[in-house]
Amino acid sequence: MPEYRLICDRCHLVVGTADGVICWTAEGITERDHALVHAACLPEAATDKVEISLLTSSVSFFGFVTDRFGRHIADPLPLRAIVWALVPFVSRADSGAEMQSMRAISIGNTVGVKPADVAGINRRRLPGRDGTPSR
Ligand SMILES: [Zn+2]
Repeated sequence: MPEYRLICDRCHLVVGTADGVICWTAEGITERDHALVHAACLPEAATDKVEISLLTSSVSFFGFVTDRFGRHIADPLPLRAIVWALVPFVSRADSGAEMQSMRAISIGNTVGVKPADVAGINRRRLPGRDGTPSR
């Protein structure tokens, strides 16, 4: 997604989804100091973190967001900005990982396995209209 970049809240350089984390400090049900940073820029005061790469699917993203419900967010603006910054990575159906899995599933292949590598060995046969396996 080269047209859209995440920026580290600490060093202000571009953060990739592979090396970024969201971190915060939790005390009981109170959370504060939410930040989007490189893993190497993690503040010492942070008590919790989640890798951004784990939040790029809609299920995990909404899990992260709804986990914040019921907690006291001391300053909601940074968390709100982080959630909005991640939305394009979650809602676009053409993110690399999502498209790869949808394409693989649509042709009956296994995600992460190049179709040429298996040459039909791993293809799932779907029943035809008359109930016979299709080719
Ligand atoms: Zn950084």
